[in-house]
Amino acid sequence: MMNIAGYELELLVIGFPGKGVCHGGLGWSTIALLRGHGRVALIDTGPMGMRRLLREELRRRGLAPADVTDLLLTHSHHDHSINWTLFPQARIGIGAHELDWSLEQPWGETPVPELYMRELSSWPRLHRLADGEEALPHLTAHVAPGHTPGHLIFVLQDAQRDVIFTGDAAKTRAELVSRHADMSYDQSVTAASIERIWSYWRRKPDSVVVPGHDLPMTQHEGQTRYLMSRKAAIEACFGDSLDESTLIDLTEAGQP
Ligand SMILES: [Zn+2]
Repeated sequence: MMNIAGYELELLVIGFPGKGVCHGGLGWSTIALLRGHGRVALIDTGPMGMRRLLREELRRRGLAPADVTDLLLTHSHHDHSINWTLFPQARIGIGAHELDWSLEQPWGETPVPELYMRELSSWPRLHRLADGEEALPHLTAHVAPGHTPGHLIFVLQDAQRDVIFTGDAAKTRAELVSRHADMSYDQSVTAASIERIWSYWRRKPDSVVVPGHDLPMTQHEGQTRYLMSRKAAIEACFGDSLDESTLIDLTEAGQP
């Protein structure tokens, strides 16, 4: 937990920098909670498989989905956006261009949840965010294309340090450091967006980046440093009984 710009910031779920080898996308993405200035705000929602976890993480903090006043979406991919339906009372912010682009995507070909975006487009509490707009007090939205054309990053500004929520504009430490991204429609557009993230990140020495699929990180003496340790595992049942499960550790420590 971090106190910043009048908010308590917590990461309810921390994304994982991996993808399935035989089963397609994994979609383990970051969900952030900001409480302050009379708001209870989430940045991104995780995929449908995180619904129960998201509700539990809110409940552990004495919150129900109905308490969430603002939901900000970095982009329309299902693993970040699909659970907006848990928050019908919230004001739901998404990039104006992102939403328009999402509605034009052919059905069945992209990670955009077509019907969820169509429903959102006419939702009464929808708020189409513009580039540079203040989405919450002290938090601005900035267009950072490359992963999707209208992708937003959110910059939370305080006197001492900022927090930059990058979503999938830079999903992982590897993408931030290499300026090269997996799942980019144009690497030069992605590189320019990552360079913009770095320009925000470098402004204050203790600033933190919260990526869409990795641990939060900061800069220290020219090195990129994770701020937390990773937790990720799968429980698999290979035997004849549900009691005989195998725990597969997916962290660096769990590798041979
Ligand atoms: Zn994405």
